[in-house]
Amino acid sequence: MATNRTFTMIKPDAVEKGHIGGILNMITEAGFRIVSMKLTQLTVADAQKFYAVHSERPFFGELVEFMTRGPIVAAILEKENAVEDFRTLIGATNPAEAAEGTIRKKYATSIGENAVHGSDSDENAAIESAFHFAGREQF
Ligand code: UDP
Repeated sequence: MATNRTFTMIKPDAVEKGHIGGILNMITEAGFRIVSMKLTQLTVADAQKFYAVHSERPFFGELVEFMTRGPIVAAILEKENAVEDFRTLIGATNPAEAAEGTIRKKYATSIGENAVHGSDSDENAAIESAFHFAGREQF
């Protein structure tokens, strides 16, 4: 089951610009089923924990500030080969390098403010999903 699921966030930049609907439409059109979803806001402690792997990187402070500045949409998605297929759908971290037809190509503005998150492994998908959703919130 876990291997068919991934975790995503629609980041504050995309929520601010009114792109929740457009992004969810691209996600469901690509064949993902929404297992869990909520509008929420990360605290500084949440963002530091979520992105702990990047804590030594020069952009960490800016990333935490960005990710906490407004609401996000957190969601668990299901589809065969979910992690890899969702990474393909969102495109490269830097929108300048993102392929045509990807979410980041359409909605991201910079390498930092890049509209969406997608888990990079099945293991992280499970950790990130549990970070945001209780078992009874997963449908
Ligand atoms: N990020 C940034 N500057 C960089 C690289 C990454 O601000 O030079 C931010 C960006 O929001 C990115 C997040 O840190 O989505 C996590 O980086 P990662 O390399 O894991 O990229 P992703 O997996 O999101 O494509």
